[in-house]
Amino acid sequence: MLDRYNRNIHYLRISVTDRCNLRCTYCMPGEGITLIDKKDILTLEEIVDVVTTGASKFGIRKIRFTGGEPLVRKGIVELVEKVSSIDGIEETSMTTNGILLTEYAAALKKAGLKRVNISLDTLSPVKFSTITRGGDVEKVKDGIIAAREAGLTPVKINVVKTEVLDQEELEALKSYCEHNKLEIRYINQMDLKTGTFSKVEGGSSGHCASCNRLRLMSNGNIKPCLFGNHGFNIREFGIEEAFKLALDHKPLKGKINDNHQFYNIGG
Ligand code: SAM
Ligand code: SF4
Repeated sequence: MLDRYNRNIHYLRISVTDRCNLRCTYCMPGEGITLIDKKDILTLEEIVDVVTTGASKFGIRKIRFTGGEPLVRKGIVELVEKVSSIDGIEETSMTTNGILLTEYAAALKKAGLKRVNISLDTLSPVKFSTITRGGDVEKVKDGIIAAREAGLTPVKINVVKTEVLDQEELEALKSYCEHNKLEIRYINQMDLKTGTFSKVEGGSSGHCASCNRLRLMSNGNIKPCLFGNHGFNIREFGIEEAFKLALDHKPLKGKINDNHQFYNIGG
């Protein structure tokens, strides 16, 4: 569906939970995380209803599951299966930290998931544990191989540019990805509160001119833009109206978001 600025919005990123089994320093605070109340988290059925309406009435064609960590959401495989089979949905993918992928990769593929992006900022066990506040990099590496073997391809590796990304690390990641037939994407660290994404692109507003997406938060808010405070809740407005409001409020350019963080929007 076209928005006010003639952008074709056909991509919905769904944060299925704000819970996570890691605590990356650039994503979550060390303590005092405000989690969404369990009763406010959408049920799997509600998420399926949002996608069904999005596909049939608003031209949504592509879905990405994200989080928090999507693989800690109970029923995630069932959700992927239901969403992948909705009329009009052409592709489902997932962004995951990979910790649980050895367990889930084959089932996700069978359920209809096309591909995964896996976040991996360093190959060093010590640096990985520091960045993620306790994560085990070997589990992620095993998850990456499991995803590739299950055919969740192309497997893309998301590398957030952190202080540990020196020349040696860059080369190690490059050769690891080449050797394992993985695509690398480098992500500039963003600060939603200050809107420092504009610096990232060297211009005024990231890729806003070609933005094709809306975001569904796990509490049911449809957000027009990552860099904005607006969100329209499907339980408050109903699914169709929430979609319409989100489309109508999609800004030409993102500014700042000072009421959410990555772990509750999903990046
Ligand atoms: N837990 C999953 C993961 O880590 O892949 C999915 C959710 S995570 C919020 C989605 C993506 O956002 C990850 O690739 C993560 O590295 C990225 N991300 C988190 N905080 C960020 C930040 N401050 N700036 C840029 N990217 C960020
Ligand atoms: Fe969890 Fe992903 Fe955020 Fe890291 S980036 S804390 S894995 S949601």
